[in-house]
Order: sequence, then C-alpha cells, then structure tokens
Amino acid sequence: MDEAKLSPMMRQYLESKKEVPDALLFYRIGDFYEMFFEDAIKASKALDLVLTGKDCGLEERAPMCGIPYHAADSYVSKLVSQGFKVAIGEQVEDPKLAKGLVKREIIRVITPGTQTEETALEEGKNNYLSAIYPGNSGIGLATVDISTGELYSLSVSDSKELLDEISRFSPKEILCPIGFLEDKELSSALDSRFSLSITEKEKEYFGKEEADKILSSHFSSSIPGLGLEHAPLERRALGACLRYLYDTQKNILSHIRHIERFHREDYMLLDLSTQRNLELWETLRDKKKRGSLLWVLDKTHTAMGSRMLRHFLERPLRERKKMEERLDCIEELCQRYIDGEELREYLDSIYDMERLIGKISISSANARDMLALKSSLQFLPVIKRTLSSFSGKLLQDLGQKMDALEEIYTRIDECIEEDPPLSIKEGGIIKSSFHEEVRLFREAGEHGKEWLNRLEEQEREKSGIKNLKIKYNRIFGYCFEISKSYQGEIPDYFIRRQTLAQAERYTTVELQDLQNKILGAAENLQQLEYSLFVNLREELSRELGRMQKTAKEIAFLDACLSLSKVAMQEQYVRPKINEKGNLTIVDGRHPVVEKLLQDQSFVPNDASLGKEEKIAIITGPNMAGKSTYMRQVALIVLMASIGSFVPAKQADIPICDRIFTRVGASDDLASGQSTFMVEMSEVSNILRNATENSLLILDEIGRGTSTFDGLSIAWAVVEYLAREIKAKTLFATHYHELSVLEGKLENVKNYCIAVSKEQGEIQFLRKIMPGGADESYGIDVAKLAGVPAPVLDRAREISSFLNEKDLRLQHLDFEEAPEEKFVEDFPEKSLKLGERGRKNFASALRKEEKEVLDCIRKD
Ligand code: ADP
Repeated sequence: MDEAKLSPMMRQYLESKKEVPDALLFYRIGDFYEMFFEDAIKASKALDLVLTGKDCGLEERAPMCGIPYHAADSYVSKLVSQGFKVAIGEQVEDPKLAKGLVKREIIRVITPGTQTEETALEEGKNNYLSAIYPGNSGIGLATVDISTGELYSLSVSDSKELLDEISRFSPKEILCPIGFLEDKELSSALDSRFSLSITEKEKEYFGKEEADKILSSHFSSSIPGLGLEHAPLERRALGACLRYLYDTQKNILSHIRHIERFHREDYMLLDLSTQRNLELWETLRDKKKRGSLLWVLDKTHTAMGSRMLRHFLERPLRERKKMEERLDCIEELCQRYIDGEELREYLDSIYDMERLIGKISISSANARDMLALKSSLQFLPVIKRTLSSFSGKLLQDLGQKMDALEEIYTRIDECIEEDPPLSIKEGGIIKSSFHEEVRLFREAGEHGKEWLNRLEEQEREKSGIKNLKIKYNRIFGYCFEISKSYQGEIPDYFIRRQTLAQAERYTTVELQDLQNKILGAAENLQQLEYSLFVNLREELSRELGRMQKTAKEIAFLDACLSLSKVAMQEQYVRPKINEKGNLTIVDGRHPVVEKLLQDQSFVPNDASLGKEEKIAIITGPNMAGKSTYMRQVALIVLMASIGSFVPAKQADIPICDRIFTRVGASDDLASGQSTFMVEMSEVSNILRNATENSLLILDEIGRGTSTFDGLSIAWAVVEYLAREIKAKTLFATHYHELSVLEGKLENVKNYCIAVSKEQGEIQFLRKIMPGGADESYGIDVAKLAGVPAPVLDRAREISSFLNEKDLRLQHLDFEEAPEEKFVEDFPEKSLKLGERGRKNFASALRKEEKEVLDCIRKD
C-alpha cells in the first residue's frame, strides 16, 4: 500500500496498528470504535457486523466496520472469548480543543488471560494467565489472575508435571517462548485437553536481567527478599508475566502485591488424569460443574468463597496438623449451628471484594462498585466479633486478626450517594453533605427551575405580555419566546436571538446570568464530583493490601462454612487422620452418586487397606458398582485431606502423597494416541512414581489388548505393586484368574461386588464382599442393555464352548515352570495338546510374562 497517499487519519491509524500487530484495533472516532482493513474483515465475520468502506486516500476504499463505544464491553468479550486480542485506541485529547487530528493512543489490550470486565469473568472461577519458562533443570511456571491480584509461582521438572499444574489452574491464556511448543506431545496435549489461547514471545522477553529488574521494582524488594534467589526459571516466568501485564494493561497493577510460591511436595499430588477422572471440579463428559465433587461441596455464599473451595480441592493438604485444624474448624461450625447461620447471613451482603479491589487498582471502579464494597464491609465488625467467640485455632485467629476496615466503610458511606448512576462523569455520585461546594452547585441546579419561573413571572408583569415564556434550546440556551402578535410591545432591554415562524426569541442580561449559573453549576458539579470520586478511589488504592487480606479471610470462612453445611445436610462424619498408613472406612458413600440417585438409596460400603493388606482385587460384573466404589474411596481420602467431613459412618484416613487413577480411556482419543498406548503410558507413570504412601485406583488394566496380553500385564502389575511399591491399591478387573494371587502374595486380598440371580434376572446388590466373583454375568448385563435375544443366545453358546476349552491361566504360577504345572493341572487337555503343543504354549507364556515384566521394570 502506498502510505504516502493515505489520508492523515489513516496514517495515524496505521502507526497505532504497528504497535499491536496481533490484536484487533478498536479505533475511537466520535461515538464509535472503528476497525479497518484486515481487522475489519475479521471482526465483521466474528461479530456479524456489516462491512462497509471508508475513503482513505487510496483508489480503493478501506474495508471498515464499527460498533458504538458504549456497547464496546460486550463486543470485546465476544471477540476475546473467540481467542482474539483487542486493542483499544482511545482519543486522548478533547476533540473540541484539538488542533488538527485528535491524538489517539492504545490504552489497553484485552486478551483472554487479562480480562477484567465482569461480563467476561466467571464468578466462582479464577481467570488465569500462565507464563512458562523452560530451562535445563526444569520449567518455571507463573500464574496470575489480574482480576483478583493473585500471583503464584512454582517449578516443575518436566512437561508432564507442567500439564498437571496447568490442569489445576486451567488458565485462559499461556505465555511461552517461541519454539517451546515444538514439543509435539505437549502441544497436542494442550490443544486437545484445554481451551486456552497461546501467546508466543521471543526468548528475550523472558530475559534474566530484565525479569529481575521488573520483579524488584514491582515488589520493591530484592530477589532474595522475595525468596526467589534459587528459582531462576520461576523468576523468568514471573518477569515475563508481569511484563506482559504492563504491556497490555498500561497500568502499574498495584493490587498484585505478593507472590505465593507453591512447593509440589507440600500438597497431595493429583496428576492430570486423576483430576479429571475423579471429576473434582467438572465432569469428564461435558465439563460441567454439576455432577462434580465441587458441585456437592459448594454451598458458599460469595464468589470468593467458591474460588477458595476450588483451591482447597486443587491442593489437598499433606500435613496432619493443618488437616486437623481445618477439621476442628468445620466441627465447631457444625456444633455452633446458630452462629454459623448468622455468619452465612452476613456473607450474603458481601460481593466479590477481590475483584472490586482489582477494579479500584486499575481505576475502573465506578460509584456502584464503591457501594458494593461498602455493603461488603458493613458486617465485618460483627463477623469479627462472632468469630472471636469460637475456640478452634483457625476461627479464633480469624476473629482476632481480621481487619474489619471500619474507617473505609465510613469513608465510602460519607462520600458516595445511595443510588449513583453507572457513569462517573455525569454527576449524582457524591453526597451533598460530603463537600460544601457540591452542596452549593447542586442547590444551584435544583433551584434553577424556581429561579426561571420567578424571572418569567416578573418579566410578564413588567412587559404586560401574557404569553411570554422561557424556553430551552440546545444551541441558544434559555430564551424568552414571544409570539409575533406582541412584536410592538417588546421591552428595549430584550436582545433578539432567533426568529421562528410564529414567534421571536429573546434574551436579557439577567436571563444570561441565570443561565450561566444554572448550566455552569451542572457542569462544575459534574467535574467536581468526578475529581472527588477519583480522589476517593486513589485513597482506597493505598489500602489494597489490607482489603485483600480481609477478602481472603472472608473467602476462607465462606469455604469452611460451606463444608460444614454440607457435612450437616449430608450427614458426613469427621474423619480421623493417621500417619500409620491405615485406611478404614465404615459404610462409606460416593458423595456425588448418592446425590444423583434421587429415589434409590445408595448402598454404603466398607473399605480397609493398611499395613498388611495393600491390594484389593475387585471383581464383579459390569454395572455392579466397581468404579463407583473405588472412586468413593479416593474421594473420601481426598475430602479428608482438604479438611472436610466425609460421607461415611466412620473413617480413619492415612496421609497420602498422591492419588493415582487409571480408569476408562474413552476421553483420551482426542489426544491422538491409541487407547492402549494411553493406558500403558499411564500405567508406566504410576509404576514409576507411586510410593508406599500413595493411593492407586486401577480400573481394568490391560483391557485394551488381547485377553492373553491383558491378563499377563494385569498380573505382572499386581505382583510388582505388591512386592515392590506396596502402595494402597484398589484394582478392579474382569480377569477372575487374578484371584489366585490372594494366596500367593500376602498383602493381596480378593473382593467382589455381590449380585444375585433371581428367576434368570440379574440383581445388583451393590455390596462389596470378601472373595472372588464366581461368574462374569456379561451376557446378563448385555440383556439388561437390550441386546436382542438371538445374539444373547448365540453368546451363551459360544461362552460355554470357550469355558469348556479354557486353556487360560487358571492355577498357573509363573514362578514355576508352566509346562509341568500345566500337565499337572490339566492332564486331559495336555494329553490332547500333545508334547509340542504343550511346549509352545508354555514357552509363549513364559516369554510374554518375561517381556512384560522386563519392560515395566526397565521403565
Ligand atoms: P462398574 O464399574 O462395576 O461397571 P459402576 O460403578 O459404573 O459399575 O456403577 C454402575 C451404576 O450403579 C452407577 O452409575 C450407579 O448408579 C449405580 N451404583 C453403583 N454403586 C452403587 C451403590 N453403592 N449404591 C447404589 N447404586 C450404585
């Protein structure tokens, strides 16, 4: 394009556009934001807007589309939710005063991870941006929510751990160095599992010195003072993160006040698939909160509390003392039911303080936000007082240390009107009693009408003109209007302003004065109110730290009140916590399934795993309730670790370092790997990382391959877990053959989920019992599912034929020579097979077994 031919405005536009090549530029012209060229084409498609054109000096008109400025928020949200970035190019001088072209500047760039507009944010969920910086010794990860000011930092050792953490945070946007995503596995995992947008920056953006400089100046602290001297990768991630925020927000972001560092070993680790399989905050299938554990536990009254509860679930505790403290707190809140209810009522008047504080910091808070803050502060003193009467450590500490922010409440109360408009430039926001001048200006405005009426009356009498009236016109202001029939009687001090068809309009010196007073007062009042409001906002922004602290305390209280409410409503009990590794649950229930089963009652089940018994092999037909049972055990352990009561009659829960799950693979198809491959890599991950203190939920390991391979792998995995790792394991399987391991390995025990058959119909009893299942009932379940009778009949036929011919591994022990064992156990079959057949069979068994074991151990 020949830029020399462009109109001056287009040249100015293109200059700005160069600053934000990867964003759509909203360019303010009058009452509209306009987009041009490529941006206009993209935005018109994305927003369904009419594409027009504008003369720009070139032969062809520039493609253009626009939106009214006052509706910008919703259009911006729409674009950002589709993954676009939007830059706002604002007029930065008054068009009336500008000489030549009005100056414009980019005042903000809005990206998926840096949104602050309420309409774009989810209430109970943080809106995170994560910055990643990989190095030789691991990967640094910084995560920020600019709407609340929370900033977290941690290190992980590889991309697998990185995915686990990204899954916890679920950021909306990731910032990483160019080239980082060349790791195909990582980028396809990011693509298929998360809906996030990726911003790549050149490596220098993550520069070491630059990062240290930004961190020191933002937090006014040295690097050791921030505790980051031994975390160079985290520093670079943090530095880039802040730099990106500065670049996009053009603001100093004073509400980001400290860095919370996580150490992975402080929390129970939940890898990506475990977080998903246990459906902690969203369901596997449709990613909805309904049906997840959070859905059951979340009875919070504030958005902050809801986010805090999610934080609890993201990072279950591993320190017994902390768990007990939280449990004490829930117990006391349950016992002091009335106080709890009172506290809940107070919480109802608390808005999302964290986000209000964020808005104050970025100067986008309006008078209604101030009122929301005031309402949030009003009951703090009583909340504090109520809490002080509690005896548990956490609640008492809250009561004693909470800053009730009373003078901030008073300040807002004195200053802000009760029902202010949205805009802070139109007046009506500051109380008259707050400022003498505001009162005077407002009186002038209010009395103006009276003064005008009086003057009108006065002039009518003086001149004797009966239909003399004062009228208002936007161009000429206030005028006396007199119909043409009175033309001869106009007093000489009347000054003509305008001639109409039937009348003439006049002014006088007195009317002019009055007009100046009235209109001037309105304008002055608006300006004064605006500046008083901005002063108040600045004053409050000096108290951000105090307000943030209180907001976090309220969030914590709300989360605990929620857990106590659920505990009472759902009849949960306080779990005991032990460090001996014993897990005992009496009459445990699945917290979500029992809520979803509305009319049928849930059948409770016991569980016991500990020093002696490590592995429970669970058999039972499909639909019997195996996965429900195993997940229920895992969820009870997890709930105890966040300090929650649990759905059981009694529970004694060990401290676990990790929970691993390996369950159905259907949702992994999107990642482009075969089901079996995914299954095996998860198994391998578990075998490499599980410890004696881990809890393992393994559902049908080995199902993804031939029966023979599958059984061999399952067998070998159980052996390895029992002998080497000794982790507490629930192992559901279809391979009834595995039940022989109970006698061979001392810490393995068999269970089955009971079913009965009455008049040929299978009945699910949902009760877990010691011992292996006798039959698999697969065909009965197929019948329940409506498979046509001829197919069922044929299946029965085939099944009995196969059972007859069953040469599988019953009673075989791989440690002994299979061939001899085989001859011993199946004398007739072995005769039929002949010597060669026997040999082949035995060596095949030995070979497969050996390969599988080698492969697993080598890993
Ligand atoms: P499996 O893993 O053995 O195929 P599931 O655990 O998926 O079986 O359970 C199938 C269904 O049975 C569940 O969706 C649930 O509705 C019901 N169910 C499972 N356990 C129980 C129980 N203890 N009490 C009542 N219903 C149950």
